[in-house]
Amino acid sequence: GYRKGGYHAVRPGDQFAAGRYVAQRKLGWGNFSTVWLAFDVQSQKYVALKIQKSAPEFAQAALHEIEFLSEITKRDPSNCKCIIQLIDHFKHTGPNGQHICLVFEFLGDSLLKLVQYNRYKGIGFDRVKRICKSILVGLDYLHSELGIIHSDLKLENVLLVSTIDPSKDPIRSGLKPNLERPEGNPNNGEVGLNPIEKKLKMRARRVLAKLAEKRKSVVESSRSERSLDGIDLTCKIVDFGNACWADKQFTDFIQTRQYRAPEIILGAGYSFSVDMWSFACIAFELATGEMLFTPKEGHGYSEDEDHLALMMELLGKMPKKIATMGTRSKEYFDRHGDLKRIRRLKMSSIERILVDKYKISESDAREFAKFLCPLLDFAPEKRPTATECLKHPWLQCKEDKNCGSVNNNDAKNIDLAQSTGTSRNCTNIDA
Ligand code: ADP
Ligand code: MG
Repeated sequence: GYRKGGYHAVRPGDQFAAGRYVAQRKLGWGNFSTVWLAFDVQSQKYVALKIQKSAPEFAQAALHEIEFLSEITKRDPSNCKCIIQLIDHFKHTGPNGQHICLVFEFLGDSLLKLVQYNRYKGIGFDRVKRICKSILVGLDYLHSELGIIHSDLKLENVLLVSTIDPSKDPIRSGLKPNLERPEGNPNNGEVGLNPIEKKLKMRARRVLAKLAEKRKSVVESSRSERSLDGIDLTCKIVDFGNACWADKQFTDFIQTRQYRAPEIILGAGYSFSVDMWSFACIAFELATGEMLFTPKEGHGYSEDEDHLALMMELLGKMPKKIATMGTRSKEYFDRHGDLKRIRRLKMSSIERILVDKYKISESDAREFAKFLCPLLDFAPEKRPTATECLKHPWLQCKEDKNCGSVNNNDAKNIDLAQSTGTSRNCTNIDA
């Protein structure tokens, strides 16, 4: 974490880019960075400041992200394409090295938090549809206009457009920026302490930070759930640290495990349709509150093989031609196109589990499955594109009509989450 080559320690009030940005509070973090709410003194707006770890490989990834975001932002001056906008970027030197910093428009909670606030019970089809539309607008723009594959779509990487909008009028919204400099340098505080004192102090700080984080998440969860009432639920795609050009790919191995398309596991090459697979996983998870595929290693078989088995149990047997096409096919399939180590599959279908496991009405389940299943075609070229998906009847729902919802979970009767302690086993490939 916070060591040479790692994260840059920030305290509220710290200044960046010669005083232009003042850190307010931490918004989140990823494997590569910490993200802070900052006040832009120049534009008098709140922004999100992503401070990359300093080691060369992280700097390289940040430069990579800047390359994609610059193109994305340049070609979308009206900022309506449901993709995060890059405002600025610069270098910041700290005790752990030089950090590349990216400045973004300030957005709200991620879809993962939204699902957590609903206690993993699904967020209702009305909201699912609105969010799906936003994501598809973003994907359509990336795929058909820019030729970019996101390669890491998942709940954490889609953020709601902030409902508390301090960026518009921070003073009137009651969110006054904190422009006071912290006292002293955080990294000089330890001077004069012996190693044991240092250790104790660090431990105390960690405990306090944990407590503060817990308290914050409780407050935020109830706040955010209430603030969902009556907003349009648009969202934006973020995190272009793993993006690539369709005609210039950097690696064969992409995507976070649970959202990974079968052709990636098989090593069979890929295109835009890998994002469509992940998109279907996201839609399912929003509707049910649970991930579509959570593969696990077992006795005598790998996580990959389990993943392929889960896919076939839900979507039918993989055509032999596809199963045996990849560079890694032989690890999993025999020459008849059957899995080598998992011989007995418990066949089901998306529609069945929506009804049986998630208690969704037959008609809602049928309509939703009709939208999802083509996106989960084993043949990548048969999956509908984002452009085609946007025209699907399932999404053509009048704003004021009742679109049906999971467990009657409409905005009014959702329990306010008291705490969101559930941890998930998300293995990001860049971990
Ligand atoms: P990484 O590449 O390290 O995964 P991300 O770009 O995904 O970094 O950002 C990490 C987290 O920071 C996100 O999941 C989100 O919680 C928060 N975050 C990122 N960008 C913003 C933003 N523009 N506004 C608000 N929060 C953000
Ligand atoms: Mg991320």
